[in-house]
Formats: sequence, C-alpha cells, structure tokens
Amino acid sequence: MFGTGAGCCNPALPWLGFRPLARAEQSVRYISTRGDAPELGLDDVLLTGLARDGGLYVPAAWPRFSTDDIRAMRDLSYPELAARIMAPFAAGTTCGDGLAGVLEDAYAGFTDPQVAPLVQLDGNTWLMELFHGPTLAFKDYALQVLGRLFDRVLRARGERITIVGATSGDTGSAAIEACRDREAIDIFILFPRGRVSPVQQLQMTTVDAVNVHAISLDGTFDTCQDMVKALFNDLALRDRLHLSAVNSINLVRLLPQIVYYFRAALALGAPDRRVAFAVPSGNFGNVYSAYAAAALGLPVDRLVVATNANDILARFFASGRMQIAGVQSTLSPSMDIQVSSNFERLLFDLAGRNGARTGAMLTGLRTEGVFEVTGDMHRQSAVLFDAEAVTDDDTVARIARVHRETSVLIDPHSAVGVEAAVRARRRGALADGVPVVCLATAHPAKFPDAVSRAVGHVPEPPGRIARLGELEEHLTMLPDDYRTVADFIAAHSRTPDRP
Ligand SMILES: *Cc1c(COP(=O)(O)O)cnc(C)c1O
Repeated sequence: MFGTGAGCCNPALPWLGFRPLARAEQSVRYISTRGDAPELGLDDVLLTGLARDGGLYVPAAWPRFSTDDIRAMRDLSYPELAARIMAPFAAGTTCGDGLAGVLEDAYAGFTDPQVAPLVQLDGNTWLMELFHGPTLAFKDYALQVLGRLFDRVLRARGERITIVGATSGDTGSAAIEACRDREAIDIFILFPRGRVSPVQQLQMTTVDAVNVHAISLDGTFDTCQDMVKALFNDLALRDRLHLSAVNSINLVRLLPQIVYYFRAALALGAPDRRVAFAVPSGNFGNVYSAYAAAALGLPVDRLVVATNANDILARFFASGRMQIAGVQSTLSPSMDIQVSSNFERLLFDLAGRNGARTGAMLTGLRTEGVFEVTGDMHRQSAVLFDAEAVTDDDTVARIARVHRETSVLIDPHSAVGVEAAVRARRRGALADGVPVVCLATAHPAKFPDAVSRAVGHVPEPPGRIARLGELEEHLTMLPDDYRTVADFIAAHSRTPDRP
C-alpha cells in the first residue's frame, strides 16, 4: 500500500500520468522528452547522453518502493542504500552487473564515514553535507559513480568515447577527477572564462593527464551549454568521436543523487514522517533527483527550489511563466544559469508526457525567450515545488547568521538554500513540525571570498585544495565559435582510433 497511512502520505503526484512498475526488481526502460528517439536501456542512456531528437532521457515508468521497502532501508550503509535504490534502474544491464561493488568503490574515498552527514542547525532545520568527495562539492556523489560505470560498459563493449561537458564550476572538476587517466575516455570540459572561482579553475586545470582538456570559453555558462548541445546536434561529429555527456543532461548523473534524499529522510524518521528539502539550484539536476525520490515513494513534504539572483526558476514557480533574463554573476557561481536543462524533464511530466508539446514550449523559450504553461500545469507543479530567490547580500547575511548561531561555516550556495528554507518556513509553505533538510552543496573553503566577507576570516582549506596554487595549469582558451571548438576537439580526441 502506498500513501494511505496517517503521517505517511507522499503528496499525490497527479501529473505522473503513467503507471508505475509494480515491482522494483523489474528493469526500467528510458524514453526521450521529445518523444522521437529510440527507447533505450541504461547502458545506452549512459553512453548517449542527449537523445538524438534533442530531448533528455527519463524513465518510461518509475519503479516504486513500498513503505515496507523503505523501512527496510534504515540500517543499510550508504553504498548499500545506493545499490538498493539504483538496482531497478540498472537491472539486466552491464551497469547493473556488479553495481554494489562499483558503489562501494566509488564512496570508499570520501572523507566522512557517513558520506552525507546531517548537522542540526535548529529544532527542525538540518544541513546535509555533500562535500566529502574529492572535489568538495556534491557533484562528486554522482560523478564518482558515473566514471566507473563508463569504464565497465566501455570495457564490456571494447569501445572508446569522447566526453564533452559544460560547467559553471563544480561539474568540470568532479568530471575530470572521475575520468582522469581512464584509457577509454577523452574528456573536454568547457567553462566560462573568468566566471568560475579560482579554486574551481585550478581543480580543473592542474590535472596533468593526456586524456583531460580544460577549455576556457569566451562567454557565460549558457554559452558553454549551448556549445555542448551544438556539438551533440552535429550528428556526423557525434558519431565519429562517440560523443558522450557527463553534465546532468545524462540521466545516469541524476540516479546516485536520489540516494542522499532517502538517506536524510530515513535518518529523520521516513517513511513514518515526511521531510522537506531546500535545494540550491542552477541546472535543476539536484532538485530533479529529489523529485525522482518522491516518485519512487519517499514521503517528501515539499521541495524548496533555492536560486540566487538568476531567478528564472523562482519566477516560473511563482507565475507559470518561464522567461529568460540576462545571466548575472553572483557569489554562488555554480548557480549562475538561466536555462536549466533538467527543467525539461519536469516539463515533460507537467505536459502529460507529450513530447511534441514539451518540444514546442522549449522552442518558444529558444526563439521568443519565453513560454507559459497552463493554469492546470502550474497548479500541478505547486503540489511539490516551492521556490525562493536570494540576493548576494542576503546570502552573506545568512552565512554570518548561521555561523553566529551555530558555529557552522557554510558556503554561499548552501547559504542560498538555508535562507530559502527559513523563508519558506516563515511563509507557511512547509507543514508544521516537518523537518527541512538544506543541502550543503559545496565546502566553504571553495568560496573563501564570500565566506570571509560574511565572517571576517577565510575557512581552513582541506588538504585536497590547500596546495593547488603551486601546480602548473593546463588550459586552452577558445572563442565562442562552433567551428573552432569542434575542430579542436576532433584534433585532440583519440577516438575512434588515433594513438
Ligand atoms: C552544481 C551546483 C549547484 C546546482 O545544482 P544543479 O543540479 O545544477 O541545480 C549548486 N551548488 C553547487 C555548489 C554546485 O556545484
């Protein structure tokens, strides 16, 4: 039974207009949000990234864990929990074969034994620390798994790939860390020149490996993301170089992120108690994983989408209208994004899983800079989602206040989440007594300038980043020109058979 017990009712997900799989063991198939690409299994979704019709892959149906299934997850270790949750998505594929071992290995290098520990901020506000991986941001939680899965699938098939990715800072370093020195992979990461923090840039450019290429592109994150999309839409290039993606347009990026939502909710009493989450958001990947957790059966009270001054998501959830504005640089650069790729996955569900309708709205966004959903779709989005936009001044004030009241230092991205949670609580958007878990998406030492502005001193850098400044940088600067970028990648990729 699902959602009927008192104190345990997932908000209805009325827009999920398709039948969930009856049993978690059945293998999931994947379809495109544009409705015009082949249905795939997880191995091919992993290697493909963006669907050939320009859409994003999503499960054709969600597996569903019962209340008893969820209760039985309480005593699992973090990697065991990850294996339990990811198993139905990967059953019957090479990704699924030996998955438990992959997950043990992926999280073995994390510096906290809890992997994603909770820290209490006040009576019913919690911080979930997601910065205990190699690059000190939450992206490691998925990418450490992804790099290993790529390795397994490519080895099984005797193939190689060229990974291209756009980053606003943290994805790039986490992807490079996950792929460095892997024989079957060449990786090209595009980042916007001058718009990532010095630590973030050094984490990407100081890796000295033949298969790693950090490219500093003239433009914003959206310029980089558009360039990656254009590379993928160049089907000849895409086939010749076996292009693949590691940014969160790759669905396999989102699956390991579901795990920590279960982990936190279980620790706070799920499935017998509902929990809310506040998620610092840019590309909508992390909070989409929370939505997936709810679709899987986790009793989620509310998802607070927290944005900085780049507030397109907050404006959408307030109005049902998505309208592009210029990108602004903020103290939380990993969220300096206007067009959130993963929003398309939610939009597809809101549109009754109609690919043509989804495509039409997104075309409107590209050509007119705006689209509007129907009143009904907007109401459906509000069943689970709530949103807040937070200015830099309020971000700094929140870092200072959390430090004053709890001695905990948080980074500016995490502060946006905490501030949004506090406001959502004050507005009555969270049910009484429901705990809210604020995701701490990066270590404060990655953003020393903002933190010192708030508390008057810089955080102690952990060993992993303390000596980056002494290493030599390897980077290529390129203009925002498709031919130049495509030619550079073609010349430097070792795929298909260059030495
Ligand atoms: C990537 C990132 C975000 C935004 O996550 P999305 O999945 O893109 O919404 C927030 N905070 C930090 C520190 C990040 O690196």
